[in-house]
Amino acid sequence: MKFKFLLLPLTLLVLVFLSGCHTVPQTGRSALHLVPNDQLASMSAAQFGQLKQETPISRDPTYNAMVRRVGERIAYVAAPDMPNAQWEFVVFEDDSQINAFAMPGGKVAVYTGIFKVAKTEDDLAIVMGHEVAHVAAGHGNERVSQQLLAAGGALALQFGTSDMDSGDRQLLMAAYGAGTTVGVILPYSRYHESEADEIGLLYAAKAGYDPRAAIGFWERMAQQSQGAPPEFLSTHPAGATRARKLNEIMPKAMEAYRNR
Ligand SMILES: [Zn+2]
Repeated sequence: MKFKFLLLPLTLLVLVFLSGCHTVPQTGRSALHLVPNDQLASMSAAQFGQLKQETPISRDPTYNAMVRRVGERIAYVAAPDMPNAQWEFVVFEDDSQINAFAMPGGKVAVYTGIFKVAKTEDDLAIVMGHEVAHVAAGHGNERVSQQLLAAGGALALQFGTSDMDSGDRQLLMAAYGAGTTVGVILPYSRYHESEADEIGLLYAAKAGYDPRAAIGFWERMAQQSQGAPPEFLSTHPAGATRARKLNEIMPKAMEAYRNR
C-alpha cells in the first residue's frame, strides 16, 4: 500500500523534471509544460475547425477586416516569441457574447458582442493583444499540465488512503477536489489573465496602437459584467485590480508605443 502511494508522485516528479520548464516570453517567468506544443496545436486546430462549423461566422466586412488587420499586426510583433504559430482570426456572429478567446497554436476568435465595448481599432488591439499573449505565453499548455498534475495527485491520494474508512476517505477526497479547484487551478488562471493583460498591452503598443485605450476599455467591460462573481471565485480579475495593474505597466507600454 505504502509502495503504491509513493510510486505515482515519484512518476509525476520525474515527468515534471524531464519535460522541463518553459520560459514565458516578455515576463521571463518559468512555466510547466508537460505536453509537446505541436501536439497541443494540432488538437486545438481540429477543435477550432469544428467550432467554426458549429458557430455562425460573421459576414460583416468591417468587423472581419478590422479583426484580421489588428490581429495580423499584433501577431507580427509577437512573431519572435512564437515563430511557429499558425495564426487565424475569426469573428463569430453572437451579439450576446462580449467575449473573445484564443487556443494554443494561434487560433483566435472574437464574438460580435465585443464591438459593444471595443469601439475603435485601439480598443480592439487591447482584446487581440490579450488573446495573442495567451497563445505566445503558452498558457494553454500550462493549464493542461496543471490539470494533469492535479489528476495525478488525486490518484495518489486514492491509493494512499485505501486503508482509511470510506467516510473519512470520501471527505478527504472532496476536500482535495475543492482545494485543487479553488487553490491551484483558478488563481493560476487569474494570474494568466493578468499576465495576458501585461504582455498584450506591450504587443498592442509595439504594433502602433495606443495602450491608453485599455483604461476605458476595461472600465466599459466591467460595467457590462456587473453582477459577475467576486474575484475570489472568478477566472477574471475584478475591475479594480485590473485597473491598478494596468496603471503599473502603462509607463512601459507608453515607452514601447513612443519608440516603436
Ligand atoms: Zn484572457
